[in-house]
Amino acid sequence: MIKRAKVAFEKCWNAFQREFKLMEPEIRIMKPVPKGIKKSNHEYQLPCSICGEIAIGYKIGIGQFDKEEKLLYRGIICGSSLNKGLADDLFESLENEDLAGVHEFMRKHHSYEGLDAYCPECDKIYCWNHYKLEEEWDEGFYDCTYGECPKGHKRMIDD
Ligand SMILES: [Zn+2]
Ligand SMILES: [Zn+2]
Repeated sequence: MIKRAKVAFEKCWNAFQREFKLMEPEIRIMKPVPKGIKKSNHEYQLPCSICGEIAIGYKIGIGQFDKEEKLLYRGIICGSSLNKGLADDLFESLENEDLAGVHEFMRKHHSYEGLDAYCPECDKIYCWNHYKLEEEWDEGFYDCTYGECPKGHKRMIDD
């Protein structure tokens, strides 16, 4: 009687183990990528929504060609130094993980294409690996870059 109970228990345990093993990879994939990462009060990063690789970085600092502190931006195809006075506005959007707000900020203060790693239709960030980039050249001169997200939304991300 005791033996039978033990066997039943082991069977159950094995089944549980098996089930658990099957679930493991799923868990790994399902592990949510944070929308935004706050490194400090002066530094934020936006990871790719698929692989988690950092696609966008913002921080207060002195860039290579700057004489004073700036709001430094690094995207998947370009980087730049913005006026430090704009940081509060931007950091508020980052704090709220408001990606559309960050995109809008970039459209206003950086370029019409906005946040280069951002797909507005998905409301998601993609790294250069997942936002398929396509450069266009016009008679030997760089013209613009298109990005296509994994869902097939295509837009110009740099001009
Ligand atoms: Zn990625
Ligand atoms: Zn998309």
